[in-house]
Amino acid sequence: MQNTSTDSGLAARVHQLTKTYGTGTGRVQALDGVSVGIRRGEFTAIMGPSGSGKSTLMHIMAGLDAATAGRVWIGDTEITGLGDLDLTLLRRRRVGFVFQAFNLVPTLDVMGNILLPIDLDGRRPTAIERARIDGLVESLGLADRLTHRPHELSGGQQQRVAIARALATAPDLVFADEPTGNLDSRSGREVLALLRAAAVERGQSIAMVTHDPVAAAHADRVLFLGDGRLMADKPRQSAEQISAYMLATELGSADPLVSAEEVPA
Ligand code: ADP
Repeated sequence: MQNTSTDSGLAARVHQLTKTYGTGTGRVQALDGVSVGIRRGEFTAIMGPSGSGKSTLMHIMAGLDAATAGRVWIGDTEITGLGDLDLTLLRRRRVGFVFQAFNLVPTLDVMGNILLPIDLDGRRPTAIERARIDGLVESLGLADRLTHRPHELSGGQQQRVAIARALATAPDLVFADEPTGNLDSRSGREVLALLRAAAVERGQSIAMVTHDPVAAAHADRVLFLGDGRLMADKPRQSAEQISAYMLATELGSADPLVSAEEVPA
């Protein structure tokens, strides 16, 4: 029942998604007929080489950018054609974001940043949210940093603040765009473990864009994009398996005389 709009097993879904940038000779086909669903309670990695369409897919799935053609759902809500205000409210209430560049507000302290999505919604945190935020702050080791500004924190700490902010309202769906891209490997592993815990322990659906096989190996499922198309949809893979697949498919497309079967896996 992958194609019904009421599929409760999917936190987000796109159908026959196409995205074209520019016109004439400058025309770029960033996505070319992608159909895929993000399953609830799973940590899904969206992998692929630079330029394969990963960020475009994530931005359209999250309602941050519009498709050229095709349909998009967040949960059971079709977002294709929703107005800006409805989209903004939907994103704020149902989706969390973690970005490579952290995207914290420099003038707000740690707690101010964590509370931002709730403040923007024009309300105070509920008792449940307060308790959740206290728990996140504690488990993320931010308790003694609450009055610090982002520039007073390490990269790893800033990304943990961004994760606390993304999880504060317990959104069904969290999008992470290269969340470990600016981190050392130890901080990166911590961030990946936190994202995994959000899926495993709290049943949240995590979709992470990455080009790093080590990061993608933390996910339950790996989607491979190439040239704007979905090339493969695989269950949990080791970093070595992911690298081998990437290498084989990239070699295959670079030299049409070498078939995928001839490339060592
Ligand atoms: P990835 O995230 O896998 O690196 P992107 O989704 O960023 O890939 O880009 C896919 C393709 O679309 C690339 O060829 C890229 O140059 C192009 N592209 C992305 N954003 C724009 C834009 N705003 N204008 C024109 N081309 C774009």
